[in-house]
Amino acid sequence: MSKEIVDILLTNGYLVTMNSQMALYPNGSVAIKDNVIVAVGATADLEATYEANTVIDCQNCIISPGLINAHTHAAMNLLRGLADDLRLDVWLYGYMMPVEREFVDHGFCYTGSLLACAEMIRSGVTTFCDMYYNEAEVARATVKAGMRGVLGQTILIFPSPDATSYDESLEYCRNFIKEWHHHPLIIPAVAPHAPYTSTPDMLEACVALATEFDVPLHTHIAETALEQENSTAQHGTTVVPWLEKNNLFKAKVIAAHCVHLEESEMRTMQLANAGVAHCPSSNLKLASGVAPIQKMIDLGLHVGIGTDGAASNNDLDMFEETRLAAFLQKGIFHDPTMLPAKKAWAAATIEGARALHIDQLTGSLEVGKRADIAIITANHTHQWPHFTRDAEGVYARLVYATKATDVRDVLVDGKLLMRNRKLLTLDEPRLLKDAEKISKRIDAFLTAREGNILSKLLAITADFVPQETFEIQAKVELPQTTSLATIVANLGLEMFRASIRDQYDTYFIFADKEAGRLRYREDEIKNEHGELKETFYTMTLMGPAVEKDFANSIVLTRARYMASARHSLRFYREYFHPKTVQEIIKHRQRCHVRYHDTEFSLNLDQIADKTYLEIKSRTWSAKDATHKAELIGELLKGIGK
Ligand SMILES: [Zn+2]
Repeated sequence: MSKEIVDILLTNGYLVTMNSQMALYPNGSVAIKDNVIVAVGATADLEATYEANTVIDCQNCIISPGLINAHTHAAMNLLRGLADDLRLDVWLYGYMMPVEREFVDHGFCYTGSLLACAEMIRSGVTTFCDMYYNEAEVARATVKAGMRGVLGQTILIFPSPDATSYDESLEYCRNFIKEWHHHPLIIPAVAPHAPYTSTPDMLEACVALATEFDVPLHTHIAETALEQENSTAQHGTTVVPWLEKNNLFKAKVIAAHCVHLEESEMRTMQLANAGVAHCPSSNLKLASGVAPIQKMIDLGLHVGIGTDGAASNNDLDMFEETRLAAFLQKGIFHDPTMLPAKKAWAAATIEGARALHIDQLTGSLEVGKRADIAIITANHTHQWPHFTRDAEGVYARLVYATKATDVRDVLVDGKLLMRNRKLLTLDEPRLLKDAEKISKRIDAFLTAREGNILSKLLAITADFVPQETFEIQAKVELPQTTSLATIVANLGLEMFRASIRDQYDTYFIFADKEAGRLRYREDEIKNEHGELKETFYTMTLMGPAVEKDFANSIVLTRARYMASARHSLRFYREYFHPKTVQEIIKHRQRCHVRYHDTEFSLNLDQIADKTYLEIKSRTWSAKDATHKAELIGELLKGIGK
């Protein structure tokens, strides 16, 4: 009887199928025709049935489904090591987003994604789930590398590197899906970045697009405790109920992180068949916490494992990630039986495929599925010896002892992408050179920015109007009992726009005095009964010192830039790291007066047990400043100073 001809026959390997019976074949074989697995079983049986154009002997190797990286930002490989050991907000708003605004273009996304693919193939990854900008470039790179990708086009409420509005990103996303959704390697997806960067309208449009084309929706959920706190403060509920109210779970959701979910939120997601992408390294590195994935698995959620982007990990090593995932559940819950090796390997393979809603295609070695396979050497010193008493010891070998560098060959969709650790689809030396070119430009940009406080400030303020303002002002100490009303009455003037406020000022002082000072101000505006009416926050970059002195200690000062402060004081302190920080709390009575047709503001400040009066006016020319200095001099005389 003649044998059936197939393209590739993998023989003599320890076959780990990850099928529903979790079948193992100590001497196993896989037959591949075109891009599909046509047979799985004992080597003797398959050799008797099939004849292959290419036979790959897998002796001393484990044949496993390729690993599935359930969450990453591939192009961010170009930002690896750019900014480390920072808090999530400083890292994201202070470094990642400003650099992305400046550098992320088609070339960046293509080269960065190729670099990520090279790294992932080297570590046995066959499918990855991505979220980034210019996702069509990521798709081109993925196809060039020969990998499988669930590729999500990012959608944000604010302008992003590839769109000025979310309408524009949605349009891009629609075209991207249309262009790629029949490609054998690419599953396009809609990727609203996170609940806190979305609006209900935007989410509704994203869900509509994802369901129209039946593609997944990829997002970040509950990465930090702060996200849950803010959601509760803003929407009166934690993140998942808010998303459910906005119909997010009508789509096939892939949720990255899920570090801070309540049990009820896990149940909601399980009922909606949402997939979870657990990213232990990233969550640890950014100190977000540890997701309780054993609990999620117990509740029936499909949990895959992701590396997240190389800027927050800093590598895409799924072996390291899988081992860490297992160790963390044990360590955090003080229970060594948590996430056993078999479950951890499932999370890295078949459960990852389920979380990405593509288990009909990949994730296990079964007849009819695409041939996405990692062949992993298993007899290196650090994997030796082997015990056969318990067949399932192979999972422990894979999860606890094997390293990414043990991966020998990788196939995706029936094609070899790596053979004997040589990449077959990518020119690695050239890729490294291309990446270096881009990194040098980023280096130069950040080096220049870090040396200038104004550029650093502008980099994190999207809606800025850089504007220099000059003020002429005088400051005098008065007896403590003085009231602003009495001062104004004694001057024979009328006050208007009067207000009472408490100001909490924090000055950042830098080693280089010429660099200027930054002031973070929390303004609590009170009504006439002293009750809080309004709070606002501003960040002001003040000139280095006094610009010019006039008589009577009247000075000209310069505020170079002022903007509402969107971030916390802690954020600014960590982002600017000043040499010293000085705090001043004052109770301020404020009003305006008109004197000789010129408007002045009067601030009566109580700072500790002293009382000061400030008289100020904005000015725009040397002549105007001299004139106003004279008028302030007269006012000072009027109050006996
Ligand atoms: Zn992410």
